[in-house]
Amino acid sequence: MIDPAITPNAIAYAWERLLDIAGAEDLAPPYAYGPANAPLPEPGVIIVPAAPHAWSRLLQLPVGQLDWLPAATLFPSGYPLPFHDPVPILFWSDADRDKPLIRVRGDGSIIFRVDLIAATLFMLTRWEEIVLPRRDEHDRFPAIASTAYRQGFLDQPIVDRYAMILRAWLQRQRPSWQPRRRTFHLHLSHDIDHLRRFLTANEALRQTANNLWRQKRPRWALEDVRDFATGRLLIDRNPYLTVLDDLANMTEMRGDRATFYIMAATPNLFDEGFTVTTPALTRRLQRLARRGHIIGVHPGYYTYLDFQRYRTEKNRLEQALGEVVHHARQHYLRFRVPDTWRIAVRAGIREDATLGYADMDGFRCGTAHSFPVFDILADEAIPIIERPLHIMDGTLKSYRNLTADEALRRMQKLAQRAAQVEGELHLLWHNKLYYAWRPWFQILRRFLNAPLS
Ligand SMILES: [Zn+2]
Repeated sequence: MIDPAITPNAIAYAWERLLDIAGAEDLAPPYAYGPANAPLPEPGVIIVPAAPHAWSRLLQLPVGQLDWLPAATLFPSGYPLPFHDPVPILFWSDADRDKPLIRVRGDGSIIFRVDLIAATLFMLTRWEEIVLPRRDEHDRFPAIASTAYRQGFLDQPIVDRYAMILRAWLQRQRPSWQPRRRTFHLHLSHDIDHLRRFLTANEALRQTANNLWRQKRPRWALEDVRDFATGRLLIDRNPYLTVLDDLANMTEMRGDRATFYIMAATPNLFDEGFTVTTPALTRRLQRLARRGHIIGVHPGYYTYLDFQRYRTEKNRLEQALGEVVHHARQHYLRFRVPDTWRIAVRAGIREDATLGYADMDGFRCGTAHSFPVFDILADEAIPIIERPLHIMDGTLKSYRNLTADEALRRMQKLAQRAAQVEGELHLLWHNKLYYAWRPWFQILRRFLNAPLS
């Protein structure tokens, strides 16, 4: 395994990301990525690079060997801490080991012996997903193979935390400067994989019987019969469709708008598929778009490496809507770095929202902020924004087997961590959940009422 080249392009990209998250893009202090005695025209920031091979070493580092420091040791003394838990140090700078981790040199410049540039690139470019071979049965890079999960910091927006540390030192260096601050934003999105609740009469019958005899819920059983009938005959009254309005209302009540990712694949083993031109659906989607919600495409199971297929599905949705679509999230979260980004860009997508793990909630990209993408191997920007996914309903329920209350606490914890860094928390709740996992819908409502409690 060979570490990627940290080129001037890559350094500029990472520095820009850090400044943006720190709310310091207007400040643009002089900086150097080099030795602690690097000359600067005026007091600025020097980040001393980690040793060569640090990236490969990090991948091979045994679990539990990563250094963690108390938050207070990373901020200037007396600075109000935005978070209190210990912070992992992914990359130490090798030089000046006898010196403090962060210090101010004679001319007032701040010297970081923690390599913020390397950490930002490591997390945002998803380099480890390119070089590590492990995949699950759907060819996905699993959370359990990631450095963040293995070393226990997947639930920290680590890039953002580093940016907050940078902000604090800049504030100390320039006491009259006020960083630009963002407010926490909870963003809800919905993947529409299914348009009707029951595909076959058999399935409906089994569910009805279960609700009647096992669950002793005759009202649910009645709803089952109704849903089967409406799915067949009155598609406009079918709950998998009408729930789109309920979901939109739920978000509008918070004064916000949601994103709906619509499947447009033809049916196959992994895509249930539905006729995206169904008038009852397109009318509804157009209405949602007029109300300010975003309608994106949910490219099917076989698209993540197949441009033709990706484009065909996107076109199909666009024709049904009569609108161009700029947002996408991959079905099953199937994604290969950097190929799927490139395919999406070629197909005209401006924002992808796939990068969360199916098997674990948390900060796959180490950030609670949407970010422009950089291809570390090609050493160039990819003109697309990644809107990282943090929590998917199925992750909490099926992959992690949490109870609804445990899930709620987990969501609140991640929301709090995103809020500490003035970030966003992106949630994916499927439309099928409305009926299939009723208590989980209540959890979502409770969370939306008090995300930070
Ligand atoms: Zn899906």
